Amino acid sequence: MDALDLVPQKQIDCLDKGFVKLIDVMPRIIPDGGTCDYAIAQMARVSYGAGTKTVNEDKGLIRYLMRHSHTSPFEGIELKLHVKLPIFVARQMIRHRTCSLNEISGRYSIMKDEFYIPSPDNIRKQSTTNKQGGDEPIDLELAKEYSEQIELMCDDSYKKYIEMLDAGVSREQARMLLPLNLYTEWYWKQDLHNLLHFLALRADSHAQQEIRVYAEAIIQLITPLVPWTIEAWNDYHPMRGALKLTRLEKEALYNSDICHDNVLDIDSKNSREKQEWNEKRDRLFKSIE
Ligand SMILES: Cc1cc2nc3c(=O)[nH]c(=O)nc-3n(C[C@H](O)[C@H](O)[C@H](O)COP(=O)(O)OP(=O)(O)OC[C@H]3O[C@@H](n4cnc5c(N)ncnc54)[C@H](O)[C@@H]3O)c2cc1C
Repeated sequence: MDALDLVPQKQIDCLDKGFVKLIDVMPRIIPDGGTCDYAIAQMARVSYGAGTKTVNEDKGLIRYLMRHSHTSPFEGIELKLHVKLPIFVARQMIRHRTCSLNEISGRYSIMKDEFYIPSPDNIRKQSTTNKQGGDEPIDLELAKEYSEQIELMCDDSYKKYIEMLDAGVSREQARMLLPLNLYTEWYWKQDLHNLLHFLALRADSHAQQEIRVYAEAIIQLITPLVPWTIEAWNDYHPMRGALKLTRLEKEALYNSDICHDNVLDIDSKNSREKQEWNEKRDRLFKSIE
């Protein structure tokens, strides 16, 4: 069957004029009733051999791979997306160097009159705790004034851009009149391992809200393609449901009133995962002694 048939909605709108659209996936042809997860297990089995009993269930194998950062089988899946996004969001996204992409050219094309105008209820106050971020909504009157100012500035910039093009200025230079909230578009191809790395960083609460919207949309698009992988990622990635402790944090936990006894157990039916927890629990509560 065609893997794209697993995805009910192939395009998700983002911000006021943007979107993420799923264009293609490898593997595209998958076994009937399956998902692209099968290809991850298939790739991993080369390591273990078909007869290995402990890794003979695809879902369990994928969870094991994710838990132990055995990442290369996830690189066997490729996703191609069409993304329309403001340039300042694109600047953040393109820092992720493991993609292959092709972007609309402002040297060849006249850029469209499309700018991201945040709605007044999404204008955020500068955070006092995080120098890079904004958090709470700002006073609504000020927010409205700011939104209006952006709109006026964009109208003016675009008018001057067209005037300069009409006067004969090259497209590659006239575009300097356009601000960072102009929308751009690209095709973005990335393997699943690196896409998950990008998504963990950019869906996280420390990332700017505008790029988080895109990260969440991509998660929604790819989940039907690789549901077991996304479940394992949510369970084991330290920026999703799991947590990474520093040595100091580990020691604080050790010195706290949290019970040190051996009945502290995890809610898992997987015997290997339970065994791994026993070993970690020993490391946490015994190694410091
Ligand atoms: C909340 C947040 C705030 C940020 N703020 C800033 C900022 O203020 N200024 C700024 O400049 N950046 C900033 N960044 C960008 C950040 O520093 C990274 O450049 C970006 O997140 C890409 O991460 P990456 O290199 O792990 O990802 P990718 O480029 O996708 O690379 C994936 C992995 O491949 C490996 N890799 C890729 N290329 C190389 C290479 N050349 N050499 C060695 N290993 C490589 C690394 O292991 C890397 O983790 C910010 C990112 C976040 C999430």
